[in-house]
Amino acid sequence: MNLENQLNSEEAAGVPILDLGRQGAELREQIVAGLARVCASGAFVLGPEVVQLENGIADYCQVEHAVGCASGSDALLLALMALDIGPGDEVITSPLTYVATTNAILHAGASPRFVDVEASTGNLDAAQVAAAVTSRTRAILPVHLYGHMCDTRALRDIADRHGLFVVEDAAHCLEGQRDGVRPGGMADAACFSFYATKNITGGEGGAIVVRDPALAERVRRLRSQGVSRDAFARHDQGFAHYDVVEIGYKANLTDIQSALLRPQLARVEARLAQRERLCRRYERAFADLPGVRCLSVAPGTTSARHVFTLLVPAAFRDDLLRDLPSEGVGVAVNYRPVHLMGAYRERFGLRRGAFPVAEEIGARTVTLPLYPSLLRREQDRVIDAVRRRLAGRP
Ligand SMILES: *Cc1c(COP(=O)(O)O)cnc(C)c1O
Repeated sequence: MNLENQLNSEEAAGVPILDLGRQGAELREQIVAGLARVCASGAFVLGPEVVQLENGIADYCQVEHAVGCASGSDALLLALMALDIGPGDEVITSPLTYVATTNAILHAGASPRFVDVEASTGNLDAAQVAAAVTSRTRAILPVHLYGHMCDTRALRDIADRHGLFVVEDAAHCLEGQRDGVRPGGMADAACFSFYATKNITGGEGGAIVVRDPALAERVRRLRSQGVSRDAFARHDQGFAHYDVVEIGYKANLTDIQSALLRPQLARVEARLAQRERLCRRYERAFADLPGVRCLSVAPGTTSARHVFTLLVPAAFRDDLLRDLPSEGVGVAVNYRPVHLMGAYRERFGLRRGAFPVAEEIGARTVTLPLYPSLLRREQDRVIDAVRRRLAGRP
């Protein structure tokens, strides 16, 4: 729901939004009907709405199993735990991401090992991954940044050669594909987020897709304290003692979240097509600006177009972040690299210069408004403001 006169970027003004899109009224009706259904049923967690959503996600991703959970952060943590990745293990990942990616590795007890990104996409550079593998490496955790899938085939090859798992951070990339592969299609697990800023949202929420049924079972158990059967199954089958077979978490998805998500899932392709058009308009509009570039979409790739970012000269970036909101244009920064954040600097002793490409993108990136109901004339206002602000520069 857009604030009047304010064109929101991802988290402009700290107000996360559920954009209902151009057919907003119909979507709103379906959401309200879903919420009423949950209230009438009395099943609020791990009930039929959750199961239907999980089935819908598995279908959409063409992966056998989907397990809903409380957040994208929990999805990553549960996936790592279910693969027995923990203390003493290293996980190769990108420094150009939201800190949730790296925190999940640390919460699992493992250590992140950062590898720099490609200049063209901002994604983990597969060519540098093999050289970073050590005897302690157990997994590769690529982030499909802004919705653009990493080179999954190359990463899978490297993983297979070294006996590693691949866990995808697909928080931006529910709709993405590359070379005919979707998230979870070649990886051991792919993790989605349904946080308020994501392409579909339950306010909070997440999901893990996996192909291996035993792994799916383990993720389900870990999401409910490691208890051998979930409360709904117990209720269904009469009384049975439960056992705690391992130490798990409390990370369930609720039926209210699922009722919000299901009608959005049904519209992901239409909403993606709207964002795709907007992104192409941005790309055309900024193509002639000196010192400015957009990231590219690799051949054979369908980007989920989660975030549109413009790379401007680093010297002007923070001025733009200051000036655009004063013209009613929301901005965000996705992302300042994780290894330069205070807590990470202290803990890992990493310095500026360690991952130059990630740092360059982090210093130049400005996220512009992108959501299905953004109108052309509103987008023109954004384009005009950016061009005007950059034109006055040397
Ligand atoms: C949002 C996000 C997450 C975490 O998802 P939550 O649902 O907020 O926990 C992880 N990785 C990336 C890249 C994200 O953008």
